[in-house]
Amino acid sequence: MTTTFQIGDIQVDRIIEGEYPFTSITGFFPALTPELLAENRAWLQPKALDADDMMILCIQSYVLRTPHHTILVDSCVGNGKPRPTRPIWDRKTDDTYMRALSAAGLAVEDIDIVMCTHMHVDHVGWNTRLENGVWVPTFPNAKYLFAQKEFDHWTAQNEKAPVLPFQDSVLPIVAAGRHEFVASDHALDDHIRLVSTPGHTPDHFAVAMGKGRDDAVITGDLIHSPVQARYPEISMFADFDPVQSAATRRAFLERYCDTSTQCCTAHFPSPSRVRVKRWGNGFRCDPITD
Ligand SMILES: [Zn+2]
Repeated sequence: MTTTFQIGDIQVDRIIEGEYPFTSITGFFPALTPELLAENRAWLQPKALDADDMMILCIQSYVLRTPHHTILVDSCVGNGKPRPTRPIWDRKTDDTYMRALSAAGLAVEDIDIVMCTHMHVDHVGWNTRLENGVWVPTFPNAKYLFAQKEFDHWTAQNEKAPVLPFQDSVLPIVAAGRHEFVASDHALDDHIRLVSTPGHTPDHFAVAMGKGRDDAVITGDLIHSPVQARYPEISMFADFDPVQSAATRRAFLERYCDTSTQCCTAHFPSPSRVRVKRWGNGFRCDPITD
């Protein structure tokens, strides 16, 4: 399986930290009834759903080599992080992610911009690594772009009760002065634009790429499974605002439906990259394998 592809003059690499059955799909999507699952099980299996109805998630970063920058979008779970409620992520020590980075011909020094579509645990982890008991930026030459309102939201949450990923993977970047706060519709340059897509979190953004047009877009977590394309109103259990999330998802799918734009999802099973087509009142996601 190739994890490298070309979008116009941008080289894109998927840096995969893992791909595995994660949780029961009906637990992940409370609105997915047993009857609806039964209607859709056949096409979801075996890639998006295993034989025990566990949802298969890919955890990955995308690295974009544009004519101007080397950008890492979302930074997965990371190593050494205390994640007591999620045993497979708790104080991880494997070298899969760093091996994938070097297989793509990249060293941590090569990344000059890191962007996190939102501040959930599986999108900020490799922002930092542990050095002599202190969390330091993993990518020493990078500027880290965070959405201002997203940061403000998690700051307030963290004051109410500790938010571990925020404390060990976001705040140390700010303390090191490596951050830049932006609006969630910020245009970086002529190739890269953030697309405000709130709902999953308050200031979630997608990342559109292409010179002057959206040749491809990185979805982040505005969608987690192809079943949500068929039924955009199905939101996931942890969405901050499930109604807004559903509206954002439908608008996004409608915008790119039957266009040539490639959607690079965060969590769909490999190849994770799809084109959107119409399917009844919803949408179908056709995997792109070239
Ligand atoms: Zn995620």
